[in-house]
Amino acid sequence: MSVRVRFAPSPTGYLHVGGLRTALYNFLFARHYDGKMILRIEDTDRTRFVEGATENLIKYLEWAGINFDEGPHIGGDYGPYIQSERFDLYRKYAMQLIENGKAYYAFDTSEELEEMRKRIQASGGFYRYDRMAMRNQFTLDQQEIKQLIDNGTPYVIRLKVPYDQDVVFEDIIRGTVSVKGNEVDDQILLKSDGFPTYHLANVVDDHLMQISHVIRGEEWLPSTPKHVLLYQAFGWECPAFAHLPLLLNKDKSKLSKRQGDVAVEDYVAKGYFKEAFVNFIALLGWNPTADREIYSLDELIQLFNLEKVNKSGAVFDINKLNWMNAQYLRSKPIDELLEHIIPHLEQIKFNYINKDYLKSVIELFRERIENLYDLPEAVPYMFDKPKSFDEDFIKKHWKEHTTDLVKEYIEAIKKLQDWNYQSSHDFTIQWIEQKGMKLRDIVHPLRIAVTGKSGGAGLFETLALLHKQDVIERLEYFIENVIN
Ligand code: GLU
Repeated sequence: MSVRVRFAPSPTGYLHVGGLRTALYNFLFARHYDGKMILRIEDTDRTRFVEGATENLIKYLEWAGINFDEGPHIGGDYGPYIQSERFDLYRKYAMQLIENGKAYYAFDTSEELEEMRKRIQASGGFYRYDRMAMRNQFTLDQQEIKQLIDNGTPYVIRLKVPYDQDVVFEDIIRGTVSVKGNEVDDQILLKSDGFPTYHLANVVDDHLMQISHVIRGEEWLPSTPKHVLLYQAFGWECPAFAHLPLLLNKDKSKLSKRQGDVAVEDYVAKGYFKEAFVNFIALLGWNPTADREIYSLDELIQLFNLEKVNKSGAVFDINKLNWMNAQYLRSKPIDELLEHIIPHLEQIKFNYINKDYLKSVIELFRERIENLYDLPEAVPYMFDKPKSFDEDFIKKHWKEHTTDLVKEYIEAIKKLQDWNYQSSHDFTIQWIEQKGMKLRDIVHPLRIAVTGKSGGAGLFETLALLHKQDVIERLEYFIENVIN
């Protein structure tokens, strides 16, 4: 059997991290089996439609390296791939079900439906459309139905659920799922405005587009029995189903905006590497091997196994994402890091001096930060004189004699020819030993005066990058303005 899978988002604004995980698993599965990956836009709910949302989705899917073989932006033999361009089709299939007695017309007004709901609620029963009490094919005769339709009375088309039959299907991740027929509602297939519901359009399209595996989030599991009944009503073969585990906040509640970003674009804007982000997302619910966590997209494709996806929810742990991003920051070629950060620095109008200098700063600090975009805030003193100074550190390390010591040090280094890591380091050690003092008597004061901070990279690496003249100016400024 040839593998054909689809990612079927509704264009409601942005790509959710859960959506990216679904798209990614479909993609890994398709590429693993040399199958086809299809993008289908499910925009039947026009009230939720957001202008530009489809383009936005495609943009961030492509950013993540997920590409498609068929879709609205590519074409293919089974299109159009936008449901709003296929409305006539869904109507035709709904009518087919009416004709073979698997679906029926219902003419109830919203008031009547509301009354029914209240009645069922009051009796404490399971909510399901009450066929026998409403205005539909069970309670009206052919003539009445025809008249209502001819008069232009609004109607919906509902699926006639076989109550006496259990709905059973296999889920690749969850195993056998079984639901009692009398617990399934007579689902609306075609709405009174003539638009199909998600259920009808989804099943018709999955069938017509010859989808072999439906891989989607767990939130769609309750819809699947309805879909299975629809396939049966049409006499079509069901695709295989796989429902992916929910994404959770750290406190195990369902992943929500309130506890952090849920839009992929927010993570892009924050400077996460796409390799790190995709690697992280891929491991939300699945881990190929127990011994490591860093995988390239190609490795993920090679190793992907839908059967090994977990049933239980996956915690979206931002600390893990940061850790993973840091791993990529350590190992990426420096030129890639420059390409990644320069557009950002230019956008925020941050003066990074020049490319070569920025490169050296990144080399020095890449081991100490988790996200490249944090560089300006982590080491502002590498780009400008410090504006604030760690008070506690000053109190601890700036002793009575320190000002005089630093003044002497300034005079001494003025005479130094070379100023690089080795020369500044060797000179300072020699100089302080001659005074019968310890290295810490000078390095802590130098660090606070030059950087404003109590910690950072190696002091002499830092001083070497800053150049001697700048170091001298900072030391003088500190003595004159900060310590006085
Ligand atoms: N349109 C649905 C969504 O927004 C698709 C669910 C499915 O894959 O069947 O996620």
